[in-house]
Amino acid sequence: MTKIYSARWVVPVTAPPIADGAVAVEGARIVAVGPRADVRAQFPDATTEDFGAAALMPGLVNCHTHLELTAMRGFLEAEEGNFFAWLRKLTLARMLRLTADDLRVSAAWGAVEAVRAGVTCVGDAASSADACLAALADVGLRGTIYQEVFGPDARMAQEQWIQSRAQLEALRTDETPLVRVGVSPHAPYTVSAPLLEMITAYTLDQRLPVMMHAAESEMETLLMRAGCGVFADDYARRGIEWRAPCVSPIQYLAQVGVLRARPLLVHCIRVDDADIETIKIFDARVAHCPKSNAKLGHGHAPYHKFLKLKHGFGSDSVASNNTCDLLAEASTALLMARAHAPDALAELTAQQALFAATAGGAQALGLDAQTGALAAGLQADLIAVRLDGAHQLPVYDPLSALIFASSGRDVVLTVVAGREIYRDGRAQTVDEERLRARVQEIGAKLMAN
Ligand SMILES: [Zn+2]
Repeated sequence: MTKIYSARWVVPVTAPPIADGAVAVEGARIVAVGPRADVRAQFPDATTEDFGAAALMPGLVNCHTHLELTAMRGFLEAEEGNFFAWLRKLTLARMLRLTADDLRVSAAWGAVEAVRAGVTCVGDAASSADACLAALADVGLRGTIYQEVFGPDARMAQEQWIQSRAQLEALRTDETPLVRVGVSPHAPYTVSAPLLEMITAYTLDQRLPVMMHAAESEMETLLMRAGCGVFADDYARRGIEWRAPCVSPIQYLAQVGVLRARPLLVHCIRVDDADIETIKIFDARVAHCPKSNAKLGHGHAPYHKFLKLKHGFGSDSVASNNTCDLLAEASTALLMARAHAPDALAELTAQQALFAATAGGAQALGLDAQTGALAAGLQADLIAVRLDGAHQLPVYDPLSALIFASSGRDVVLTVVAGREIYRDGRAQTVDEERLRARVQEIGAKLMAN
């Protein structure tokens, strides 16, 4: 059975926009993309649906999320000036105050927010990876769940790795055609070098994708370059021995060998030209999270320099954003980059940002053979975005309208692998009302005391 979606514009992303275009879908795959009349002639028996003044485009790829933390949206505002306190409050709340079901509900609510905003694929770093994998499967999203690994004390590395590997191997039995498993050693300051080496060897052997926070805060750079600062003080308090490598976080990850696994490096705020070159040489990827970077006061990443790297956008957790809206993330990335690097304005275009929000993100996650563009043979991951709002009209150029005038709230249809998971203002796969009530309950619990 073939279904044809048509609209005023079809934006394939890897090809120029098509006026009055259509996309034909059979099962989980796209079978044709082109002018509406041509596609209809090719599939005369197909059912058709026209979205009128809208753009059909590939689903958005959110390269870095922590869906399990969705219940902490707005919970950590008082700690924002102190990243150490922020991390500590978040970690304690997650470990001590949220049940396994709370975390699954939190992740599912985050997945609902994502599909409502046109996200069809996520790269999610999770402590409760089993809950997140289940939440993605419930809602119908595509993605990679990266099991988080922590362990800054080198003396514990072996023991921690045995435990984490067992967790990972159990998780891998739950993989689905849409959701696969990866590993996320959390950050250079929370995972010891020996543990990083064990993780890297395993992921290379098993061909597992890797995601890691890197070069985010000034404290992290201080720990690496000079062995001092809040993280160093914390190590000393905990009796953890640390000899600073006296290099940047990216050069440290190159030295320890992590970059051999071509990880998706999240944030990369504090990177110089040599770091960018190193990332390129290793074919590592970057998840750019401009709103989270700005909201936590970590600074701005040199986005215009990421253009020569494989890169996509990430919302990060909504505890530091506070929304999962990739169109907003893309416009923020462009506006901040233009403000900081006006000489690069000609390269910092709506077309380029739309690529990063879709095909670029898919490349960053290693999923570009499946998703990220509208083209025959790819998975049918597509969205419809209305373009006739008061904030959008008139539309001269759909790419500009999508990036500079639209947001996730303009999305009216989200399809993953041919399955409509959001339409008519509702997630189609889960009971939103039940989740809404549960998330409010969890919020009230976190608020208490
Ligand atoms: Zn993160």
